[in-house]
Amino acid sequence: MLVSACLLGISCRYDKRAKTAESIVNNRDILPVPVCPEQLGGMSTPRPPAQFTGGDGRDVWKGRARVINAQGQDVTGLFIEGARQALKIARIAGARRAFFKDGSPSCATRVVWRDGEKVPGVGVTTALLLDNGISVMDEEGRL
Ligand code: SF4
Repeated sequence: MLVSACLLGISCRYDKRAKTAESIVNNRDILPVPVCPEQLGGMSTPRPPAQFTGGDGRDVWKGRARVINAQGQDVTGLFIEGARQALKIARIAGARRAFFKDGSPSCATRVVWRDGEKVPGVGVTTALLLDNGISVMDEEGRL
C-alpha cells in the first residue's frame, strides 16, 4: 500500500510539517510504503506552496494545466518527475492501492487548489496512479 509520507508522520510537507493520520499509522492491516512525490521530484523541504492553473492533475498529463508555486515559478516538470518516481516505487512494491493526502497538487484525491480556489480535482501523482490501475483513497479511505 502506497501512502503519502506526510500522513505517516514524515515532515515532508511544503512547510516542513507532517499531517499524521492516526487511522493509517495504527492500521495493522496494511504494510505502508511511504512516498512523497514532491521530494521525489527534486523539490526541497521546506518549499513554496504550489497550485494549479488551467485544470488539475489529469489536465497536467494532457498538457492543459500547469503547477505554479508561490514565487510564480512553473514547477510542473518537478511534479511530473515526482509522479513517475512514485509510480516506479508502487511497481517495485507491487502496490495496487494508495492512501493519499487530499488537497495536495501531487496527492489530492478529491479537491485541489486552482487559481486561488478549492475545486474538485486530483493531484498529478494521483492521476498517474489511477491511469495505471492503482486505486487511490484519501486519508479517510474514500475512493
Ligand atoms: S507531496 Fe504528498 S506526501 Fe509529499 S507532502 Fe505533499 S501530500 Fe504529503
